[in-house]
Formats: sequence, structure tokens, C-alpha cells
Amino acid sequence: MIMQCPQCRSIRIKAHHTARKLCASVGTVAGTASGIAAATSGARTGMVIGGFAGPAGSVMGGIAGALLGGLVGGVAGGSAGAALGDFVDETILDAFECQECAHTFSVDTDTIS
Ligand SMILES: [Zn+2]
Repeated sequence: MIMQCPQCRSIRIKAHHTARKLCASVGTVAGTASGIAAATSGARTGMVIGGFAGPAGSVMGGIAGALLGGLVGGVAGGSAGAALGDFVDETILDAFECQECAHTFSVDTDTIS
């Protein structure tokens, strides 16, 4: 998609991604928090599986399970947050700035003509 300034028709447009950055970090935190909850059960499962290899295996399994749960949650939350942020940026905020006339606008205005 080629963006065009609604004011001067320039195609030298810069995207800001303000909400994207914010939502991605919030999403990562929220995702990690829910990931930690999943990590607890992941750790328990890991300990049970690792338990077959003795006490050391149990500890290793627990750590692996916890790490995996937290990581998966963080990544999932981060990308969900980024997607939401993109939506907010493009539709609600003035996410684009014209490099020619410094006019700021969002996709929802009359950019697509
Ligand atoms: Zn312009």
C-alpha cells in the first residue's frame, strides 16, 4: 500500500507506531504474567517428566517447563499487543507524518482516494 499525504499528495510518509510500541510492551508484560501462570503448570509437568531421571532431572525439567511457559506467554502477548497497537495507530491516532509538509494524519481520513 502506498501512503499519500492528504494535503500535498507527497508519498514521503513516515509512520510513528506510537500505540504499537506501547501495546507491544504492555502485551509482553501481560503475556509473560499469564505465561508465568502457565509456567507453574509447565514446571510441575516438567518435574514429573524429569522425575524419571532422578532428582536432578526433576529440577531441570521444572526449570525447562517454567522457562518455556513464560517465554511462550511473553511472545504471544507481545505479538497480540503489537497487532492491537497497529490497529490503534492506523485508525485512531494520527500515526503518519508527511515528510514534505509535516501534516499528520491517520488512515481513516481521506488518504485512500
Ligand atoms: Zn504533505
